[in-house]
Amino acid sequence: MKIKNILAFSSLVALSAACGDKEKTANENENSQPMETIVERFADVQILRFEVASWDKLSLKQKELVYYLSQAGLAGRDINYDQNNRFNLEIRRALEAIHEKYSGEKSSADWKNFDTWSKQVFFSNGIHHHYSMDKIQPKFSKAYFDKLMKSVEHNLSPEALDAIFNKSLEKKRKVKDPNVDMIVASANNFYDEGVTQKMVEDYYAKKQDLSDPKPIELGLNSTLILKDGKLHEDVWKSKGKYGQAIDQIIFWLRKAVKVAENDEQAAALKVLIDYYKTGDLKKWDEYNVLWSTATKGDIDYINGFIETYGDALGKRANFESIVQINDFEASKRMSTVAKNAQWFEDNSPLLPEHKKKKVVGVSYKVVEVASESGDAAPSTPIGVNLPNNNWVREIHGSKSVSLGNIIEAYNKAGGPSVTEEFANDKEEIERAKKYGAIAGKMHTALHEVIGHASGQINKGVGQPSETLLNYASTLEEARADLVGLYYIMDQKMVDLGLIESLEVGKAEYDGYIRNGLMTQLQRLELGQNVEEEHMQNRQLVSAWVFEKGQKDKVIEKIVRNGKTYYDIKDYNKLRTLFGELLREIQRIKSEGDYKAGKNLVETYGVKVDQKIHAEVLKRVKPLNIAPYSGFVYPVLVPVMDSKGKIIDVKLENKQGFIEQMLYYGKNHSFLY
Ligand SMILES: [Zn+2]
Repeated sequence: MKIKNILAFSSLVALSAACGDKEKTANENENSQPMETIVERFADVQILRFEVASWDKLSLKQKELVYYLSQAGLAGRDINYDQNNRFNLEIRRALEAIHEKYSGEKSSADWKNFDTWSKQVFFSNGIHHHYSMDKIQPKFSKAYFDKLMKSVEHNLSPEALDAIFNKSLEKKRKVKDPNVDMIVASANNFYDEGVTQKMVEDYYAKKQDLSDPKPIELGLNSTLILKDGKLHEDVWKSKGKYGQAIDQIIFWLRKAVKVAENDEQAAALKVLIDYYKTGDLKKWDEYNVLWSTATKGDIDYINGFIETYGDALGKRANFESIVQINDFEASKRMSTVAKNAQWFEDNSPLLPEHKKKKVVGVSYKVVEVASESGDAAPSTPIGVNLPNNNWVREIHGSKSVSLGNIIEAYNKAGGPSVTEEFANDKEEIERAKKYGAIAGKMHTALHEVIGHASGQINKGVGQPSETLLNYASTLEEARADLVGLYYIMDQKMVDLGLIESLEVGKAEYDGYIRNGLMTQLQRLELGQNVEEEHMQNRQLVSAWVFEKGQKDKVIEKIVRNGKTYYDIKDYNKLRTLFGELLREIQRIKSEGDYKAGKNLVETYGVKVDQKIHAEVLKRVKPLNIAPYSGFVYPVLVPVMDSKGKIIDVKLENKQGFIEQMLYYGKNHSFLY
């Protein structure tokens, strides 16, 4: 039912754009010192800061709207922590207390290890790594932690302490392994203890109605609990579970209604409030219809339980919020892609019966992020395509945004170049320098606007989350990526003025194959399989075309001085292969061919070549690159007159990482 769209490939962007786009750095306000992009570095993470160049162009009313929406987002921050694991909030409070009050020595290895671990916990919105979902192991003892807590007079329950220090407990936030009970094995807080995967599957098999043309997203906004031996949805709503936080969200959304830019925006916000009050998923759909068609304003936002990556069965969604300001210049360029959506559909390599006769309502915008919260922060997507419910998308269209100032910050922080290490030759490096950034942006645009909107499901076949189950989102991301790859080498792109030459397409092919077959492996530890959906998709696509093109030498594998390189010999044939795989994956989606989908993902997307993996880790190490990035956010400060009326909203962009985490804990925490 959901098309999962958060593009978590920050490192891909960093890699493909590592070499530059020098003009873009001259973006600072003339009156102020250039802002430092990199704030801090710890563990496998770098913390960055972005700019909001369009802030001063907003009217007071618009600034107020951004302020209220950002407050509504931050009000839900606690919910996401609790969803990730039942001990997270309790543990976070202990970390806040220690960082606020501890005045003992801070030069020992123990303190440094605690400091790093606590930052990792804040960064991951809980005790599990935000990406691998494995529990983050502390490198200090329980005794040391006890000492810290004692010195700040704070207590933690024995269960929470165990969750931190006992390696065999709460091991992984989401377990995706067809050989185990994924619900029992996952440490997230979406299901009561005692609930099994079989119980969940049976429960929703009974609830779902395949003949309903407008099915709701079953299970999206509740915890599945056992009550008197029976399953029961404990719904997240006002006066329900997470009610205190949700009431705060409602409070701020009501203020936003009053300063909405237009009637459509106000109408959508009002239904969102109704949804939070009732927890009714039909209201959620009603809201999404209004939200999808409210496209006129300069300010937009997402706020809700939206993406289901945190649940092994893809039903329950984490809270997240993003508040965005339109970037008109960039959006204009991208709207060209949207305007030609039908041409792209008509000319795609899909089987005729799987093509949409009429592609509806595709919109694409480049925006500037002003605020993010919940599952969208501090690690953020770089693009969003919503809503997720397929029938809403099909009838009313969807909205796609590219988070321009986030991508900008990644480009600036790119640092030493992975491209130079892994590219086969000078030509490839030069091409990446010249076209890498625009290639990445164009591929993202095509992925979002054309990719996810393309294709149709055969009549009588269920939604991918029902037919393709745990392979649905990997295959969906692969499908969208392939649409982008297919068209970025199309003369039409040049004719539309979107790219200056097909060299841009070549740069994207170089980068994509390098990443899919090698560089993305730097995110995994030796011995791990690929589990994250976007990574699976990229390896699947790259490994499949490499294998299928071997007899024609489309991509050549070269080993030089013990280092492996992949050199694309025939870009046009590679494009044809992308088209073939696209057609097959669309067929799988259209027909709901679970067996073929599973086979593709398991054969090409999951297993890691251990030798190559070890080599990648060895080559990346001296480059000292943080595999993951996240952000500190501007703080919006209302300025009031003597009567309490807001006369301005200031955007302050100075907080450090821990400073911000403590500030949020103090000002935006509502669950106890
Ligand atoms: Zn996507």
